[in-house]
Amino acid sequence: MLQLAASMGRLGTESAFEVLARANALAAEGRDIINLGIGQPDFKTPDHIVEAAAKALKDGHHGYTPANGIPELRNAVAADIAKYRGVEIDPANVMIVPGGKVTMFFAISMFGEAGAEIIYPNPGFPIYESVIKYTGATPIPMPLHEESGYAFDADEVLSLITPNTRLLILNTPSNPTGGAVPRSEMDKLATGLENHPHVCILSDEIYARMLYDGREHVSLLEYKHLRDRTIMLDGWSKTYAMTGWRLGYGVWPSSLIADATRLSINCHSCVSASNQYAGIAALEGPQNAVDQMVAAFDERRKVIVREINQIPGFTCPEPGGAFYAFPNITGTGIGSIEMQNKLLNEAGVALISGTSFGHFGEGYVRFSYANSTENIVEAIRRIKACLMAD
Ligand code: PLP
Repeated sequence: MLQLAASMGRLGTESAFEVLARANALAAEGRDIINLGIGQPDFKTPDHIVEAAAKALKDGHHGYTPANGIPELRNAVAADIAKYRGVEIDPANVMIVPGGKVTMFFAISMFGEAGAEIIYPNPGFPIYESVIKYTGATPIPMPLHEESGYAFDADEVLSLITPNTRLLILNTPSNPTGGAVPRSEMDKLATGLENHPHVCILSDEIYARMLYDGREHVSLLEYKHLRDRTIMLDGWSKTYAMTGWRLGYGVWPSSLIADATRLSINCHSCVSASNQYAGIAALEGPQNAVDQMVAAFDERRKVIVREINQIPGFTCPEPGGAFYAFPNITGTGIGSIEMQNKLLNEAGVALISGTSFGHFGEGYVRFSYANSTENIVEAIRRIKACLMAD
């Protein structure tokens, strides 16, 4: 018998990948499945980015790069942060990694151990809780409420901090809720954190460019007094439709960048050289493809919210960002997992149970509207027909 480390038993997963596998298996059997489960843009990576990667390969960029990324890309990231977040950072604080998740894994591993507490959004991206448990730390859920558009309540977050809190994880705009935290609440939290200098903050800003109705993105990097304990996570996956490229970055405080780089050296050495050149083309090239994609998401957002609110027993607040809708389904009397399975098996619509995003996700499901308007409308028609047939 092989004996695995106990930590493996604490590692969770991201159900979106499991639902995707089941949806694909049903599709392979000939079923017509509409996938509103997986969170990835349904657009292609813009051509000029693909061409930059191909050129890099032809130009002979085949070898290892510095573990923290090529300087040209780190400079491009710093320039992008200045442009879109209005914040000056030193490119030396940027670490390029294979996907947004890696910054998350490294930050949580750096602070997590038995006795440590880590606060994370719930419902939230499932990997936060999974990796916190994996490290042996105690996960402290920060509940997000439907009534406030799923933005956190700064006072509630601050009340969760204890002397054992090591890391606080924030995510705006948010997966799975689409919630966007307003400046007033972020200001309040940032001020309150002055009283807790022992807490590091991981700010997951991977959906920063996807905001609607004139909402502004409030980056934690804007708060100078927190800069020496802020880790900002972003990447190319969502913004440039590059989920399969595996390209992301973290902005680390000066005191942690060497440790983060050591983790990279131990784990993956560096990110694929050609993809780093593609990353430069994405940041420095034309942004119209991003604007068009976000405009398309905005249109679908309006359609999906309107349509979901017509399903008996569903109520859906308007998401402020990302490409998710997170309706309350308690009016149907059906639990979240049962709803996920029922709709996949009986209606051929893949979506994700709210419980995949934590305990406080019961009574909710997540729709990803990274799909065509036509498919969204058809999916909701099928859901209504399925639920009414009961
Ligand atoms: N953070 C959040 C909130 C996400 O939703 C995701 C992906 O779904 C990630 C990070 C990870 O992104 P990547 O695919 O670049 O690892």
